[in-house]
Amino acid sequence: MKLRTRLFAAVLGIATISLLLAGTLVSLSSQRQLLERIERELVAQTRLVAELVARRGTAPTLAELDGEADALGRELGARVTLIAPDGRVVGDSAEDGAGLAAMENHGTRPEILIARERGVGVTRRFSTTVERDFLYAALPVEHGAVGYARLALPLTAIDEQLASVRRATVIGIFLALVGALVLAWVTSTAMSRRVRAIAAVARRYAEGDLSRPLRGYGNDEIGTVARALDASVHELGSRLDELSRHRVLTDAILSSMAEGVVVVDAGGHVRMANEAVRAMLALGTSPVGRHYIELIRHPEIAGQIARALDDGESLRREVSLNTEPPKVLLASTAALVPAEDGAGRQGAAMVLHDMTEFRRAEQVRQDFVANVSHELRTPLTAVRAAVDALLDGSAPAGDPRFLDIIARQALRMDRLVGDLLRLARLDAGQEPLNLMPCATDAVFAAAETELAPLLQEKGMRVDTHVAPSAATITADPSKLHDILKNLLENAARYAPAASTVTLRIAAADDEVVLTVEDRGPGIPDTDLTRVFERFYRVDRSRARDPGGTGLGLAIVKHLAGLHGGTAAAANRPGGGALFSIRLPGREPARAARPASVSAPAA
Ligand code: ADP
Repeated sequence: MKLRTRLFAAVLGIATISLLLAGTLVSLSSQRQLLERIERELVAQTRLVAELVARRGTAPTLAELDGEADALGRELGARVTLIAPDGRVVGDSAEDGAGLAAMENHGTRPEILIARERGVGVTRRFSTTVERDFLYAALPVEHGAVGYARLALPLTAIDEQLASVRRATVIGIFLALVGALVLAWVTSTAMSRRVRAIAAVARRYAEGDLSRPLRGYGNDEIGTVARALDASVHELGSRLDELSRHRVLTDAILSSMAEGVVVVDAGGHVRMANEAVRAMLALGTSPVGRHYIELIRHPEIAGQIARALDDGESLRREVSLNTEPPKVLLASTAALVPAEDGAGRQGAAMVLHDMTEFRRAEQVRQDFVANVSHELRTPLTAVRAAVDALLDGSAPAGDPRFLDIIARQALRMDRLVGDLLRLARLDAGQEPLNLMPCATDAVFAAAETELAPLLQEKGMRVDTHVAPSAATITADPSKLHDILKNLLENAARYAPAASTVTLRIAAADDEVVLTVEDRGPGIPDTDLTRVFERFYRVDRSRARDPGGTGLGLAIVKHLAGLHGGTAAAANRPGGGALFSIRLPGREPARAARPASVSAPAA
């Protein structure tokens, strides 16, 4: 049932019940009052009649008495009966002559009996004489011939009066009910309209529209409740706003973090996973809501989350993943516990740091130290053996073979230390780049001249092809010279005697490409990128050759990088190694790579 109907029914019900009750009570009491007044008047009139009769002469005739009764009856509009002390009727306004004489003795009429006893007798009963309901009042009279005066009023007259009172009451109740109906309708409509307006505002709030209502709510209790609701909705709204601002901030922080963060609830379902963790653990694009066991394929990491969830244990461990390439992650897990009471775990959070690069760099450093030690030990052992042989006399003093060993190994160590120092300088960015126009012919010629003894020793020939576009290039001439000298020296060392080395330089697409080709054994495909690593050698046994330090190509790559260029190794289709150096053309390194910035370690 609608609120309005209910209000209407209630108000109308209350009004009807109270009106009916009040109407009945009023009608009953006014009927009683009316009846009492009629009785009082009847008694007063009877008293008047008794008084008038008492003043009569002492011996009136019967006819005189009856005439008196008739006159009084006409005057008063009531039936007047005069009764002798012995009960005989001596006068009656309703009967005359013979009829009067025939009337039975009235001495036993109830009103007469009561009047005799108490002075006044009032009864209501059926008159056998007139055959109608009457109200009787009787009083004793102080007169010789008349003992009692009696007045009778037909009840029909009284009933008429009473009926009119009832009619007035019914009309009054009816009119009041109509009024109540109108009032109930107006009140319930107004009330339900206000409640509906408040409900509409509440619906609007529920849909997220928090703009204030235009009208006031009124000053009664409904208004107070509505205002209180309004205030709490707005309070909640502003808290939600603040929460969502926090949420945006947190999301921004989490998604910009390099560390992976994943949060699972007490049931093990992922609540949050930032981009970094999705990439680290290959979780896919929408891991939220799924169970961590089905998402995280690495038993160690899943196990760590399980321990945080089940035992509330906080762990910090380094985990290696068998991914391609392999990854090393530092995984820290913690159980999420509500701050105040600590009752019941809320889930667990895990932060992953990618340690792969750090561990690799550490490994490179360790390998480097081991390599340097090893590279130094080989010539040092040889020098010590030669010196020992000379000192203990097992070799003749000043034996040129032993002195030659010492000289060669010392030279090798000198070159090794020289290359190490150079790399250290390059790493530290201490070699500034002096770019200037270089005549390529001159650079080629200088490198050839420097390596002439080695080339001649092996009977090798150097072919040079300088494209007209690359006759002059912009580069640091001394560094370009070092690049060329290293590559040419490798070619002379690894290619067979009497073979040809080809140097080419050309400029295309804003790029200068310098290549060095030999006709030697070439480099196995798997080693093509690794030859640029420090101390990397394709064939370890050839490392015994005192010629190389294992650092030459690392330096080449560094120098090319300093120019903003690259160095790469390949194999010639017809056999032999092919090294190519690409340098930015025209306006090169100045913008691309400032000389003070160190190139990445090769
Ligand atoms: P090294 O001083 O030993 O020559 P590099 O860094 O110059 O050190 O070269 C690294 C390794 O690359 C060499 O040990 C060799 O195995 C391989 N290599 C370099 N140049 C050539 C080439 N022209 N032909 C074949 N192998 C080569």
